[in-house]
Amino acid sequence: MADQLLRFIPQTRGVRGAIVRLEQSWRTVVERHALPAPVRDRLGELSAAALLLSASLKFEGKLIVQIHGDGPVALLVVESDALGGYRATAKLRDANGIVADASLADLVNRNGRGRFVVTLDPGREHPDKPPYQGIVPFEGDTVAEGLEAYMLRSEQVPTRLWLAADAQYASGMMLQRLPDNRDADTDRDWEHIQILADTLRRPEMLQVDNETLLHRLFWQSPMRLLDQHACHFRCTCSRGKVATMLQMLGRGEVDEVLAERGLVEIHCEYCNAYYRFDAHQCESLWTPEEPGSKARC
Ligand SMILES: [Zn+2]
Repeated sequence: MADQLLRFIPQTRGVRGAIVRLEQSWRTVVERHALPAPVRDRLGELSAAALLLSASLKFEGKLIVQIHGDGPVALLVVESDALGGYRATAKLRDANGIVADASLADLVNRNGRGRFVVTLDPGREHPDKPPYQGIVPFEGDTVAEGLEAYMLRSEQVPTRLWLAADAQYASGMMLQRLPDNRDADTDRDWEHIQILADTLRRPEMLQVDNETLLHRLFWQSPMRLLDQHACHFRCTCSRGKVATMLQMLGRGEVDEVLAERGLVEIHCEYCNAYYRFDAHQCESLWTPEEPGSKARC
């Protein structure tokens, strides 16, 4: 079954893992953006990785993983939550400068100034907790290598990721070495489980479902399955949020756009929704709400 994330642990101590395979939800992302294949595939890998990292955190808010690029790709970004919801988008600087076999480094680290930014946003339910942000320079040549470096440097959690994506599927597996239980036996187990997982190849990851893949890799020492949850495309934009954003922008700027274009139009880069406000709807942004009435829009 696709669009599922499965968490597992080996029989031995000190390691945990998760595997995810995205199908329909990933196609929803793909059809909303006309991206060159190398950019699309890296965004799919980043989506799988963000969901895997979200599932490993005891955290209810949003995880936002960004790769800021200094090459033909300016930004890859995925927002995900621990319940399997995610949205993803990319910003290109120069689509013509992208060759078919471009590596991630070619796309985002052409001048050595690419960086990974990971943000944990507790959300509006926890106004007392500010967002936490970690930033590391771009390292390695793949999404997996970049995030492995981030997890080690910023979180001190040894993490390995195997990721693959095309126009149809995005898949990933993550293994993490837990901070407790450090001894020679668990060191050996950690090495062994990585050697088995390193036999994973892209075509297999794209074509085979989670449980079959786990069985093929670890049949000699089967994994204990912890839990499974569905993953889905979820854009958090809404007309109400756009109205709040326009109110924060202020009447002066909104009126300026209205005078120039006769309409204020806001585009969501994640889901391609357009929110349009005519003069009358803009005017209602500045009208105080009736006590007890619902939010406008
Ligand atoms: Zn949206």
